[in-house]
Amino acid sequence: MSRILILLLGARCLIWAADADLILHNGKIVTVDPDFSVRQAVAVKAGKILAVGTNQAIMAERGANTRVVDLHGRMVLPGLFDSHVHPLGAGLSEFRAPLPPLDSVPAVQSYIRAMALKTPKGHWIVVPRTFPTRLSELRMPTRTDLDVDTDHPVAFDASYVWIVNSLALKMSNITRDTPNPPGGEIVKDKNGEPNGILKNAQSLLKMNRSETAGFTEAEKLQALQDQLKRYVIAGLTSINDRAVDAEQIALYRKLKAAGRLPIRAALTWRPDATPPAATLVKEINAANYHTNVGDDWLKFAAFKLTLDGGMTIGTAFQRHPYGPFGKQLYGKTNPDDRGQLFIPPDKLLTVMRAARNRGWQLTTHDQGGGAVDAWLDCLEALDKEKPIRETRSFVMHASFQSPAAIARMKKMGVLADTQSQWLYHDGEALQKVFGEEGMRYFFPLRSYLDAGIIVAAGSDHMIGHDKNRAVNPYNPFLSMWIEIARKTDRGQVIHPEEKITRAEALKTHTIWGAYIQFSEKQKGSIEPGKLADMVVIDRDFMLCPEDQIKDIQPVMTILDGKVVFE
Ligand SMILES: [Zn+2]
Repeated sequence: MSRILILLLGARCLIWAADADLILHNGKIVTVDPDFSVRQAVAVKAGKILAVGTNQAIMAERGANTRVVDLHGRMVLPGLFDSHVHPLGAGLSEFRAPLPPLDSVPAVQSYIRAMALKTPKGHWIVVPRTFPTRLSELRMPTRTDLDVDTDHPVAFDASYVWIVNSLALKMSNITRDTPNPPGGEIVKDKNGEPNGILKNAQSLLKMNRSETAGFTEAEKLQALQDQLKRYVIAGLTSINDRAVDAEQIALYRKLKAAGRLPIRAALTWRPDATPPAATLVKEINAANYHTNVGDDWLKFAAFKLTLDGGMTIGTAFQRHPYGPFGKQLYGKTNPDDRGQLFIPPDKLLTVMRAARNRGWQLTTHDQGGGAVDAWLDCLEALDKEKPIRETRSFVMHASFQSPAAIARMKKMGVLADTQSQWLYHDGEALQKVFGEEGMRYFFPLRSYLDAGIIVAAGSDHMIGHDKNRAVNPYNPFLSMWIEIARKTDRGQVIHPEEKITRAEALKTHTIWGAYIQFSEKQKGSIEPGKLADMVVIDRDFMLCPEDQIKDIQPVMTILDGKVVFE
């Protein structure tokens, strides 16, 4: 008797187990499985994909409590990934007030005048991160441009280059006699006076440059949570924060503990690379985290050091000089200048070896071609000691590639973390500096894929809340469109031979995004047993006119089997 009861209970459990929590049917489910198959319907249970198939087969999973959504033919994609964001700084940037577009010198000047009205005399005014490639004048501002206000020290934050006004120079005691800091330059005018441009010399400024300065912990938590929610509304379900320090790690952990983490986050630890190698090695060995520590919601990704500067400010370390137009665009004094490598090769190797031995996936910010080569030299030295392939280490940005560097990556199994938004906003200005030929291997996605190199795509979102107007825009459909069309914001096509297909672009934002996180068995496609992360969109990604791809809107985001946005 008891045996029959157990059998009956067992059968009942089986039937009950088939009751889906959620069914999406009557649509086009782009699964991104190995066959890239498109199905009619999908069922979800307990946060996982239960089944994918025909309307009829999936509706059989319907139970009394199943929510059934008729897609009316709409398309469903796997939840999208952004492989490269900086949500805390972005969240805080407009936390108190919205930022106007800073796209010309007069726009920057009116921002300074407006801030001067509400800032106490003598307090710093910071123009948030923007670049000369995005100013209509296509030139680096100098202190004269920022001297529209003489009651406040003013600093223009261009990331690895800062430009300040005369009062800021005075308050920081920067004069014609101040020596350049190691690896940095106080740029001088023709009379030998500082012209306000500080290249990797911003540490001389007597100010708190931290972007989190002046915010309480509660405000930082709120700004981070709000920005992560904006990502979900944009159709993203997984992100890589590509530069966290101990403070930011603590903020993410607090959000998660309080049930306030709206998206799956993987964190790339970037310690300050200025201390000596021995100090950094100690720090690496003392940290109680490394790649893959964590769970499906919050885990650690790569270990990162910043190897060179930026291409939008002329400090990325290139294979060739920046030349005559570089002089105007970047305010350079030496036309033979190739930019800056921040870390000497022996130090880079020592620190990266320690990180690899602690279980880290490795990366550097390597923007210029010279930095890409230096980073691959380091990886090659490590690869000789022990194959690097299994660490899934990668180049980050790697804007200026070469066939030789791509071949080295292929040989070692090195991946790429790319952001085509730099092509969209800066491609035309950069082409003026480097010429048509110099841009041949600029974000060469086709060359990567043809070489079998896995590409994870992101935005490098760092300032602003709006998905299309932020620096950089984090709208994943815009990102995929740039990969497909290689068009700039002014309509020029940059090296169409590097275009990739719609299916490939989708993979850079799904399954390959998962691969670079060691999560391709849990996420990145709509297959039974995987986490139920999906996005329903308002038109057909595969068939709509190409220029409409960037305008696609998410109508529903499903994360962990729950509808979190509709
Ligand atoms: Zn970044």
